[in-house]
Amino acid sequence: NIPVICIDGPTASGKGTLAAALAHRLGYHLLDSGALYRLVGLAAERAGLATDETALKAENQADRLGELASSMQVRFTGDHILLNEEDVTELLRSESAGMAASRVSAVPQVRSALLGLQHDFRQLPGLVADGRDMGTVVFPDAALKVFLTASASQRAQRRHKQLISKGFAANIDDLLADLIRRDERDSSRSHAPLRPAEDALQLDNSGLSIEQSIDQMLIWWQD
Ligand code: C5P
Repeated sequence: NIPVICIDGPTASGKGTLAAALAHRLGYHLLDSGALYRLVGLAAERAGLATDETALKAENQADRLGELASSMQVRFTGDHILLNEEDVTELLRSESAGMAASRVSAVPQVRSALLGLQHDFRQLPGLVADGRDMGTVVFPDAALKVFLTASASQRAQRRHKQLISKGFAANIDDLLADLIRRDERDSSRSHAPLRPAEDALQLDNSGLSIEQSIDQMLIWWQD
């Protein structure tokens, strides 16, 4: 039974950073499941498949998106992500890819199409999986499930710092309002809503450094 550590939580809670650091520390593989939803968004755009609310209401559109998700050729090499052998790493980071990801992630056919792909990441010596439903849906038998939280204002500050460092203009109040709206959407969607698994350990990292959060997770892991 190959060990899995799940790190789930809301937008900008620090999951990506902590999951990568923990995987590095343990020498484990890393699954950035958000990237898979971003890939579907990008592939849909490329295929001319609309993902707006009106388009998604047509039942066959959801099926088409599911088929697209299961036919994608995806390859992760080091820090790079290839879609049908094209390096799309930078494209996936764009705001529009994030928006498209959040729209296609509400489609059940897409979520189930990505299940097998996510399970394939479970390889020796182990896996750290980062997402929204790692502990509840994708790896329910994981040995450690962490549900990461941080105050909304802390998360808005982090996102602000991130955007500014990349040269984007950003306003803290707008970011905060945005985060709160996204939290509501993610936790109220009918399919795979964002919520901690029953056996998840909650970690509020608002006042913790990256090192302190990693140390806490390692203590839980060794228990
Ligand atoms: O984490 P990231 O911002 O890359 O995720 C992009 C979008 O994909 C999120 O806004 C969320 O709606 C969706 N997502 C999801 N389930 C996951 C990972 C991401 O629904 N396991």
